[in-house]
Amino acid sequence: MHRQQPLLIDRFGRKVDYLRISITDRCDFRCVYCMSETMEFLPRGQILSLEEIFEITEAFVELGVTKIRITGGEPLVRKGAVELLEKIGQLDGLHELVLTTNGSQLKTLALPLKQTGVKRINISLDTLIADNFRAITRTGDLDQVLRGIDAALDCNFERIKINSVILKNKNHREVGDLVQFAVDKGIDISFIEEMPLGTVNQHDRSSAYYSSDCIKTDLTTRFSLLASTEKTGGPSVYFKVQGTQTRVGFISPHSANFCSSCNRVRLTVEGRLLLCLGNEHSVDLKQIIRTHPGDKNALKQAIVDAMLIKPEKHEFDIHEQPVILRHMSVTGG
Ligand code: SAM
Ligand code: SF4
Repeated sequence: MHRQQPLLIDRFGRKVDYLRISITDRCDFRCVYCMSETMEFLPRGQILSLEEIFEITEAFVELGVTKIRITGGEPLVRKGAVELLEKIGQLDGLHELVLTTNGSQLKTLALPLKQTGVKRINISLDTLIADNFRAITRTGDLDQVLRGIDAALDCNFERIKINSVILKNKNHREVGDLVQFAVDKGIDISFIEEMPLGTVNQHDRSSAYYSSDCIKTDLTTRFSLLASTEKTGGPSVYFKVQGTQTRVGFISPHSANFCSSCNRVRLTVEGRLLLCLGNEHSVDLKQIIRTHPGDKNALKQAIVDAMLIKPEKHEFDIHEQPVILRHMSVTGG
């Protein structure tokens, strides 16, 4: 198929070629930084069907998007997720199909996922201590996730990366052990600063803030981190752990703003196209496909027009009450 020139360019000249899709707001965990203890999930009629998600994804790929990340909520708890990934993986023009998961379903789904063409997986793991894992995820079982990680390793994905959100006095003392875990498994790890998305009820985000710089300082007592010029097209800044295959990344929305090179937009499970993680600018694509069924041109035009409202940068402030009321599970992290 003839590839057209990229059409998704915003007012600041940034080319958008990366779409992240939250395919469900539901999850088997209730991580303290992501959800409140009592979450109300969206009724079925309000969320996109798998067919609608595919229709929108296809339009994006035809408009020049080459990378798609499937996320959630926990994407693997949605029935039909693997089949959706398989269909998306076959889209002409898509170069990268990747997934973010909490790992709880990987023991059984790692192999089917590998067979869909998914090459890279991010797996969230914030602690290696079972009690702490239960405390942070509220419902999760560490062993189940570790078995899932091993199942993924057995499938030889091109790249597996651990994502760890670090909270002061909850898991900040474990950063060295988490890096050692990644080294032992021959995989990568990224540390993420907590973002103020939605209200959470168990901790004060401002006092739990633990910066990437603090983590880096802690790690240098145990590892030699070599600065890497490597870019993976995301906000992570990478270091190589000397003498190993492992890269350590830092995603620092507070201490290092990465907006000027932003190449991504997000599709929420409700069908809102979010132009920025840290702002509410959005376009309701669900309404467009439900009022103009089958009209691909209307859908594509809405996506192209949406680029005009992509904000220049996020407005996060960890010390303020959240201005963004949606939780990460709805947005798609
Ligand atoms: N359930 C999957 C998982 O946990 O990997 C995918 C969705 S989850 C929302 C995606 C990523 O966002 C996870 O790595 C999670 O740790 C991170 N995350 C969730 N809430 C966050 C927050 N408030 N600040 C920073 N990262 C967050
Ligand atoms: Fe679920 Fe992932 Fe949010 Fe944890 S971070 S509650 S696993 S969606």
